[in-house]
Amino acid sequence: GKVLVTGANGYIAVWVVKTFLDQGFSVRGTVRSENKAGHLRSLFKDFGDKFEVVVVEDITKDGAFDEAVKGVDAIAHTASPFHLKAVEPEELIVPAVNGTTGILASALKNAPSVKRIVVTSSCASVLTPSTEPRIFSEENWNDASIAEVKEKGKDATPLAKYRTSKTLAERAAWDFWNKHKSEVSWDLVVLNPPFVFGPFLHDVDKPENLNESAREFYDTVVKGTKDKTALVNLGSSYVDVRDLALAHALAITKQEASGNRIIVSAGAFKWQDFVSAAHKYYSSLPAGNTEYDPAKATHFLRYAPEKQQRLLGIKFKTVEETTKDTLDDFKARGWL
Ligand code: NDP
Repeated sequence: GKVLVTGANGYIAVWVVKTFLDQGFSVRGTVRSENKAGHLRSLFKDFGDKFEVVVVEDITKDGAFDEAVKGVDAIAHTASPFHLKAVEPEELIVPAVNGTTGILASALKNAPSVKRIVVTSSCASVLTPSTEPRIFSEENWNDASIAEVKEKGKDATPLAKYRTSKTLAERAAWDFWNKHKSEVSWDLVVLNPPFVFGPFLHDVDKPENLNESAREFYDTVVKGTKDKTALVNLGSSYVDVRDLALAHALAITKQEASGNRIIVSAGAFKWQDFVSAAHKYYSSLPAGNTEYDPAKATHFLRYAPEKQQRLLGIKFKTVEETTKDTLDDFKARGWL
């Protein structure tokens, strides 16, 4: 079969492409400009004509994906802005929402061959920022960030703007599917990952240009930008990028995933967990807060694992595995 992967040059997407190719699929990746295609072509040259790249310049335009979807059996839609620099919330919301509804509309119109579409959403669409420890499940939606952006507009926090873009985009995907499910040959699966860490295959010249989550990992673990209090108090949940890529492949191939929203989380962390693991492998890196006792940590953002276990059954990489492989990667680039 052939899979279309949007935003194929992104941190997560390159691993998604690699995973599909390794499993024997053909892949067509979309990028925004030709200069983003070269790195991918050389990375996947051994796969010959099983890998191709097409340019979709502006995913917000009507019919943007009309050509790209032709003849594919499945679609993984990952392209969406993830940065915290937007002034107007619409800078994030418009590409997130229009990109999502746009690809679904193009599939409806031009791709009767498509059987399954997986959309990369986020735990940003699930969580509600909270000062009390909570376990979230697929039943939960982040309406709080939407309300904040509605009330404060461009004065909302950068995170609220990003989270709103993801929540609205995911909701738009389900709305589209509910409206059109009797007319289409495909079904929808949505993946909701928390913080994504792990090694990278995408094109990055220096650490400052890493994608949002990998840059925060680098800054915290290598540069030591968080103080001792922050290291043991701040955290979230995480998943290794390779496990998330595998989740995309399983979301396409597992029949029983059909119609589901699935949280893909390896577990909760405090930043000191990654700092401790990093210091163990590379003793030249900061030790952080050596008073930290992981057994006593209170995690505010945790996710129910059951649905992922039942529908995808991934055995997740540990904090140690993710940290070691990421650091080996930094080291190979001369960034340690
Ligand atoms: P990257 O920034 O590495 O990749 C984002 C991809 O989306 C790139 O291909 C980028 O293209 C494309 N993109 C961004 N903005 C636009 C736009 N306005 N129009 C068209 N394409 C655009 O991020 P990640 O790999 O981390 O993120 C991929 C997906 O995973 C996103 O949907 C993100 O929300 C989601 N996610 C990420 C998490 C993480 O921790 N990293 C956690 C949860 C979800 P270009 O290179 O041209 O800008």
